[in-house]
Amino acid sequence: MKELEKQLQEKQIKPTAMRLVVLDYLLKQTSAVSLTDMEVSLKKTDRVTLYRTVKTFEEHGLVHRVEDGTGVTKFALCQPDCTANGHHDLHIHFYCTNCKETHCLPRTHIPEIMLPDGYDRQEINLLVKGLCAACKK
Ligand SMILES: [Zn+2]
Ligand SMILES: [Zn+2]
Repeated sequence: MKELEKQLQEKQIKPTAMRLVVLDYLLKQTSAVSLTDMEVSLKKTDRVTLYRTVKTFEEHGLVHRVEDGTGVTKFALCQPDCTANGHHDLHIHFYCTNCKETHCLPRTHIPEIMLPDGYDRQEINLLVKGLCAACKK
């Protein structure tokens, strides 16, 4: 548990039992998860507490949202250099049309997008659809 506490403290998040459980769960995932996934896996939690925990993580740069076109918001852990002041890991996400899993591609950054004058960017989502390595076999 010590290692988990350190990870929370590095992001200025006070470690609580609930937060440690959620972080532990997220670290074990290989793809982005929805609140419902978390709720089902972490049985003793209610949705409101879970939502608040994830929101705190998001505000402190520990997790980021993933919109993969399925209509369900998913969450994934950020890269270590994300902070409360902003997520620095604007990367591409990959949605596998076979296993329906969404993966972060942290090494594939979203290129600078030029907007016309007067347009203001609120968020960027770049999603690549296809088959993941496991499904392609
Ligand atoms: Zn797949
Ligand atoms: Zn991601």
